[in-house]
Amino acid sequence: MHDDPYTALREEMVKTQLLPRGITDARVLAAFRRVPRHLFVEVSQAHLAYGDHPLAIGQEQTISQPYIVALMTQSLQLQGREKVLEIGTGSGYQTAILAELAGHVYTVERLPSLSRKAQQVLTSLQYTNISFKVGDGSKGWPEHSPFDCILVTAAAGALPPTLPAQLAAGGRLVIPVGSGWHQDLYLYIKREDGLERHNLGGCRFVPLIEEG
Ligand code: SAM
Repeated sequence: MHDDPYTALREEMVKTQLLPRGITDARVLAAFRRVPRHLFVEVSQAHLAYGDHPLAIGQEQTISQPYIVALMTQSLQLQGREKVLEIGTGSGYQTAILAELAGHVYTVERLPSLSRKAQQVLTSLQYTNISFKVGDGSKGWPEHSPFDCILVTAAAGALPPTLPAQLAAGGRLVIPVGSGWHQDLYLYIKREDGLERHNLGGCRFVPLIEEG
């Protein structure tokens, strides 16, 4: 028996959107079955929260499509103890998924009202392994570096050089790069002899707004 209608919607999301597209990491799938995505959108949109699309969250920003959140998360290969930097807290949904799977999440959002709202939801869900900051995440969070993983949820024109500099040896960084309709999702792995780059495919994100 499902305890509420959203449990069934989460299962449906996993079965129809994630598994058929190659999301196979059991820990990632379990996190998607647990995290109540409908609490990260406006109450009036709750019935749409588990659909196969992004949704507006105000301030011209979006909560990303479930599959994209899953793809980015799976590419980090989290084991449970990592220190993760997330740039672009947005609704806080991706933050919750990361907090389920890593040791500690440091998340940066440039819009104070979104950061505040996300913090309220994540606190109400009793996550204790998340630190929040308001500011330009393209500069990273040097005080807490190096990070085992960095995940950027807004599209940069090019990889900001401060980010790989704050990545630990062997660390993984996932970021959409490009502008407008032409963006690709890249995974970078920090090797001894430089950054190894993998293209995970086309995507469409809101822009990363970098301060001068
Ligand atoms: N993963 C988020 C979620 O699940 O709700 C989606 C985030 S939304 C696609 C991208 C976010 O990046 C927006 O909230 C936007 O304000 C934020 N953003 C854009 N540029 C930024 C920057 N330089 N530093 C921090 N956050 C930034």
